[in-house]
Amino acid sequence: MKLLFSLFAALIAGAVLSAYQGPQFSNAVRGFIAHSEPTIVLTNARVIDGTGKAPAEGQTIVIRDGQIAEITGGDAKANVPTDAATIDLAGKTVIPGFVMFHEHLYYPTGGGVYGQFGASFSRLYLAGGVTTMRTGGNVNGVMDIKLKQEIEAGRQAGPDIDATAPYLNGPNSVRQMRGLRDAEDARRQVAYWADMGATSLKAYMNITRAQLGVAIEEAHKRKIKVTGHLCSVTYAEAADLGIDNLEHGFFAATDFVADKKPDQCPGQGAGQRTIAELDENSAGFTALVQKLVERHVALTSTLTVFETFTPGRPLPPGLDVLVTPLREQYQRSYDRVSTNAQSNYARLFPKGMALERAFARAGGLLIAGTDPTGSGGVIPGYSNQRQVELLVDAGFTSVEAIQIVTMNGAKYLGRESRIGSIAVNKQADLVVVNGNPAANIADIRNVELVFKRGVAFDPAKLIESVRGRVGLW
Ligand SMILES: [Zn+2]
Repeated sequence: MKLLFSLFAALIAGAVLSAYQGPQFSNAVRGFIAHSEPTIVLTNARVIDGTGKAPAEGQTIVIRDGQIAEITGGDAKANVPTDAATIDLAGKTVIPGFVMFHEHLYYPTGGGVYGQFGASFSRLYLAGGVTTMRTGGNVNGVMDIKLKQEIEAGRQAGPDIDATAPYLNGPNSVRQMRGLRDAEDARRQVAYWADMGATSLKAYMNITRAQLGVAIEEAHKRKIKVTGHLCSVTYAEAADLGIDNLEHGFFAATDFVADKKPDQCPGQGAGQRTIAELDENSAGFTALVQKLVERHVALTSTLTVFETFTPGRPLPPGLDVLVTPLREQYQRSYDRVSTNAQSNYARLFPKGMALERAFARAGGLLIAGTDPTGSGGVIPGYSNQRQVELLVDAGFTSVEAIQIVTMNGAKYLGRESRIGSIAVNKQADLVVVNGNPAANIADIRNVELVFKRGVAFDPAKLIESVRGRVGLW
């Protein structure tokens, strides 16, 4: 009976999709889809294309077989088949799907434990406009990798995932994180997780230069990139070792700690006290930036997580999706942060923004992520939109901020010929927002549709499916 039913279903699907073999989705995923016609035409759209160009008004975008087939404006007539689905986007804006870099599928639940919420988080990321993301380290082992595969197979709704292996770290006190013994151990760990299907690696705060160097060598041999949230190794040392990317802007740099001992983390706070005082025009900082630019080391801005440590900031968006105990726990943390008059973050947060801006202005590749860890409050999807707003707070124009979270990310992944901007023959990864984020960046929160490979997902349905349950799965 089951076999017969499957055959019947396959026959029907075959008949409907006779020409274009689009992705096949499970029933659960189909419930989140608003449009999956082979040809979809978006009319009267304002387009912010992800390249940094000014918005174009009154555009028609033809999506065919998962790709952008045509873009026309003005009096030019698009070649629209009669059976196409047409969506009128008057008053709305189309931007590329976000390509984000410091995403996690885990969240702090208290007691030093990180709960694994990949099932709900992947829906929230997609709902927020993220169509491609790199997880920035995992503390679960295989879930990032399996979710990547399930999403590719159409059995889960979520962005395309660049799946990062468990962290590469030296001896440490995080219960869900292994400690490397020596450099050979680092090579083994890289090789093992690459064989298991990980497509990215992340080094952490207590790694030694020798371990990091060997890890980078083994990863590059396998065409895998390495990023780091560093402390024991300075940014300059990591650049010399050939690292591809550094996390948390300059918030994690220990390059300016006067008595820093090699291979030892002086504490994140010690590094951050020097960063809060750093002059972005000083010789030391400009030399570091120059080195990073010359060595093609990308920098990931994660302003969202640092905002949750900074007094006087608004409550982050999206808290209502959490289960009650996690919502209350974050509220207590927010209250503590708000009343901490001694907090270094009052100076550090705006300084961190200025340093990231200086790096980008000097020609560095700035990408972005949101890091839903810390003491909570960074809610996937919502956080990605907030990160764009914070880049605008940091002094980028809206169009530049959108470029950072789209085309810059695609360039880092080496996938700029397929994703990251709105152009003919690219994958139709598009976000429809109500309003005009070029004029008012907060409009970026009004996501109405998220196209991934030409299939439009309904963010409201994705969010509703997890509301009040984030913290369970
Ligand atoms: Zn992180």
